[in-house]
Amino acid sequence: MLMRSFFLYLARSRAARNFLMRLPAAQRVARRFVAGETIAQAIQAGRALNDKGLLATLDHLGENVVTEADAARAAQDYLDLLDAIAESGVNSDVSLKLTQLGLDISFELCLSNMRRILERAAQHGNFVWIDMESSAYTEATLRLYRALRNAHGFCNVGAVIQAYLFRSAGDVRALAAEGANIRLCKGAYKEPPTVAFSRKRDVDANFVKLAEYYLSPEARQRGAYLGVATHDDKMINAVKNYAAAQGIPKDCFEFQMLYGVRSAAQQALAAEGYKVRIYVPYGTEWYPYFVRRLAERPANVWFVLRNLFRN
Ligand SMILES: Cc1cc2nc3c(=O)[nH]c(=O)nc-3n(C[C@H](O)[C@H](O)[C@H](O)COP(=O)(O)OP(=O)(O)OC[C@H]3O[C@@H](n4cnc5c(N)ncnc54)[C@H](O)[C@@H]3O)c2cc1C
Repeated sequence: MLMRSFFLYLARSRAARNFLMRLPAAQRVARRFVAGETIAQAIQAGRALNDKGLLATLDHLGENVVTEADAARAAQDYLDLLDAIAESGVNSDVSLKLTQLGLDISFELCLSNMRRILERAAQHGNFVWIDMESSAYTEATLRLYRALRNAHGFCNVGAVIQAYLFRSAGDVRALAAEGANIRLCKGAYKEPPTVAFSRKRDVDANFVKLAEYYLSPEARQRGAYLGVATHDDKMINAVKNYAAAQGIPKDCFEFQMLYGVRSAAQQALAAEGYKVRIYVPYGTEWYPYFVRRLAERPANVWFVLRNLFRN
């Protein structure tokens, strides 16, 4: 728990970021979790996953931009990415963060960038997942998601729900009633005990409860679709068992995992006939993403230390 807090603090520290991003050894180590810096490298990683029977979701790394120009550039990067996916024929959708598209600057700016991206995605028959950031953004993120769905009529957009938040049970009920596509994950940010469960067993129990609700006949009849985003065998087995007991076909939901994490488990699930989508981040802004991965698992820290030492 202390280690997690320390790394989540580091993820937000500018000094640590400036120091680590300049270390060539750190850049090399980050490559375990990040597919490269360019669209071409991301497409190549997506193709390699497809060859193994896995789907992809490509993410151009970036968050918390502070100028309109940077938000516009991020939107353009996503338009280019959607074009490149269509041209390459890679089976991949995309994931993005709203603070990368200007949410810290203004809701309207972010909405307008998102509309451009969703229009291009719709032209290519593609789909966009809106990642969920810290709880400071939950309300605005869901509001923007609903504006895109309801006021602007986009169906090709999904939201993310974090099982560690107390509010998620209510959000899941509302989103199921709206027939939303959601990705359910445990949650990767440092949250106060006033908004989130702090004990892992409570987060896990909530994850299973929310997943089962989203897979219930009541939710699926409304068109609700679930991405089960976890590397945790306990969560994966709970979902598999529930789906089997309810007679839910394997293509009515999907498992999602991160690039570079439990690759053998990813392929094993696909071999069992499940849909498995891998989140593939790329780009130069890898620092906060990389440090959040270290926070999740002490073994990842040893992996980094071993490599830094070796280098
Ligand atoms: C596709 C995807 C998208 C995500 N999007 C978001 C998002 O939008 N917002 C957000 O807040 N978070 C997001 N996350 C991160 C998520 O919230 C968790 O922080 C992260 O997935 C770790 O939680 P876990 O469910 O894998 O289980 P944990 O509780 O971290 O781990 C449980 C168990 O999983 C296994 N495991 C985990 N990692 C490894 C590993 N490297 N090697 C071997 N075994 C391992 C181990 O058995 C471990 O004990 C996303 C995760 C995924 C997979």
